[in-house]
Amino acid sequence: MQTGTIWRLRAFLPIALVMSLVSSVSATPWEAISSPSQSQPQAIGSYANGCLAGAKALPLEGKGYQVLRSQRARYYAHPSAIRYIEHLAEQAHRTLNTSLLIGDLSLPQGGRFSSGHSSHQTGLDIDIWLRLADAPLSSPQLAKPEPVSVVNLEQYRLVKASWDRRHFDLIKLAASDDDVARIFVHPVIKDTLCRSEESQDRTWLRKVRPWWGHHYHMHVRLRCPEGSDACQPQAAPPAGDGCGAELASWKPQPKPSTKTTSTTASVKRKPKVMPSQCQALLEQ
Ligand SMILES: [Zn+2]
Repeated sequence: MQTGTIWRLRAFLPIALVMSLVSSVSATPWEAISSPSQSQPQAIGSYANGCLAGAKALPLEGKGYQVLRSQRARYYAHPSAIRYIEHLAEQAHRTLNTSLLIGDLSLPQGGRFSSGHSSHQTGLDIDIWLRLADAPLSSPQLAKPEPVSVVNLEQYRLVKASWDRRHFDLIKLAASDDDVARIFVHPVIKDTLCRSEESQDRTWLRKVRPWWGHHYHMHVRLRCPEGSDACQPQAAPPAGDGCGAELASWKPQPKPSTKTTSTTASVKRKPKVMPSQCQALLEQ
């Protein structure tokens, strides 16, 4: 490399760094799309690498629910997911006497968010907050909602003051629908559900999967709907209710005193290839 080139690179580097920092937080092309495509509803690709054709918007308020942070326009989903939310909210309203706060669904044509989770790309992922809204939230509260965590993360235990029987009933209700593939909750919540189920019916617990993060909301993931031929399903959860050793393995262990440097962090992941149908949607 010639000296001149190096000098030019040196001069260029800070700008390149700044540019990469800016691009990591700036909008994705999917966030620039303001309306659903006019086509048959199709969930395309996988939950974390896909898109959504023919999406439907969830009305911002309905019987038994309100939509949070609608300014982010993440309230679009496959019509089957819209039906699921409306049905669950109506049941929660009728049987639990409360209202659901609906968090992120998907963008108008799905695809990647610039912030938050990497899934929610195909209109089949639904965040439902565990804060039960016994009184409706005002517009400013909906725009900037306060989460209520039900887990003390440091002590790895349930916050009993934030949890009531209705959380159990709601998650069981949500998981018992045949359209549901999985529900992600914090491992402490899963443990609480495992201990609280007194009946013989434990099949629903198989779908409730422990995952970090989900301590103030549950994440409902629906199966690929009929007619979505390009939708990639996820393998079924392991057999059984998932309440035994697997769940115990999530409990943080005291850290060993010798520091081991992580090698996985530096391993570069292969960039994901977007399904061609999604590329076509972007180019429309
Ligand atoms: Zn989610």
